[in-house]
Amino acid sequence: KERILEIQDLTKHFRLRRTSLLRRPGSIKALNGISFSISRGESFGIVGESGCGKSTAGYSIVGLLKPTAGKVLFKGEEVNSMDANSLREFRKKVQLVFQDTSGSLNPRGTVEWILSEPLRAMGMAKKQIRNLVVDSLELVGLDKDLLGRFPHELSGGQKQRIGILNALILDPEVIIADEPVSSLDVSIQAQILNLMNELQDRLSLTYLFISHDLNVVHYFCNRIAVMYLGEIVELSESEELYRSPLHPYTQSLLSAIPGGSYRKTEKIILEGDAPSPMNPPSGCFFHPRCFKRMEICSRVKPRIIEVSKDHFVSCHLY
Ligand code: SF4
Ligand code: MG
Repeated sequence: KERILEIQDLTKHFRLRRTSLLRRPGSIKALNGISFSISRGESFGIVGESGCGKSTAGYSIVGLLKPTAGKVLFKGEEVNSMDANSLREFRKKVQLVFQDTSGSLNPRGTVEWILSEPLRAMGMAKKQIRNLVVDSLELVGLDKDLLGRFPHELSGGQKQRIGILNALILDPEVIIADEPVSSLDVSIQAQILNLMNELQDRLSLTYLFISHDLNVVHYFCNRIAVMYLGEIVELSESEELYRSPLHPYTQSLLSAIPGGSYRKTEKIILEGDAPSPMNPPSGCFFHPRCFKRMEICSRVKPRIIEVSKDHFVSCHLY
C-alpha cells in the first residue's frame, strides 16, 4: 500500500523567552524525534496524556507549527522542499479537524460563510461555492436550514459536524483529527465517530486520529502509537496493542479502562505526575513513574525495537 504520510524524526522544541524569573531560559521539549508512516486508507492513532506532544505532532505535520528538526513526507515528497504548487496541493489534501470547534469556528460567521471561506480562498466563483456548500451538508447529515445560523446557535454535535465538513470541503485525502470527540457527550461521541467511519469509506480518507482516550482510539484505529513526553514508546496494530501491551506505560493506560480487556493485573496506579517536558528525566523518560524499573533505566535510554512483527516498543525489558 502507498505510504501517504511519512514522519521522520519529527522534533519540536519551544524556546522560552528570558524573563527575570528564568535567568537561564530553557526550552519545552514537546516532541523529541517521532517516526512513523501511514498507508493510504489507514486510521492511525496517537494516544497519550495531555502534554505528551500529540497535538504538537499534529500541528507540526500540517505545518501550523514549524518543526525544529525532522521531516514530513507527503506521497514521498518532503514538505519542506516542495515548490509552491506541491505545497498548495499538500495544504488542500491534508486537513486538520480541531479539538475545540467552538474556538475554531468564527463566531461572527454564519455556517454558510464559514464553509465558503476555504473555497473563496481558492478563488472559486460565488455561485459554484453556494452549490458546493449546499450539496456538501448532506455528507455530514445536516440540513440546509442551518446555513444561516451562527456557531452559538448550534449544538456541540452540530458544531463538530461543521468542523468536519469544513475540513472536507477542499476534498482532502488525509484528515488529522485532534481530539475530535473529547468535548462531546458520550452519546454524541459515538455518532461523530460513526460519521467519521462512514466518511472514510465514502471519500477514501486516511486518518491520523489524536486522542487521550485509548478506548476511543482502539475502536477507531487500526494502528496505534503511544506517546510519552514527546516520544513514541510503543507502536503496534490496534488489537495486538489492546491484547498484549508491552510497555509499562501502555499497560497502565489499559489497566485504567473500566471493563477493558487488559485485566491481567489490578489497576496500575502510576507514581506522581508526568515530569515537565522542560526537564525530562535521565535514561528512560518513564522511569520515575515506572512500576517495573530496573537499575539500568535511569542511566540508559532505551531504543525503540521491533519485538514481534510490526510491534515496536522502547523499554529495557525487551
Ligand atoms: Fe520502565 Fe525501565 Fe522499561 Fe522505562 S525502560 S519503561 S523504566 S522498565
Ligand atoms: Mg492536546
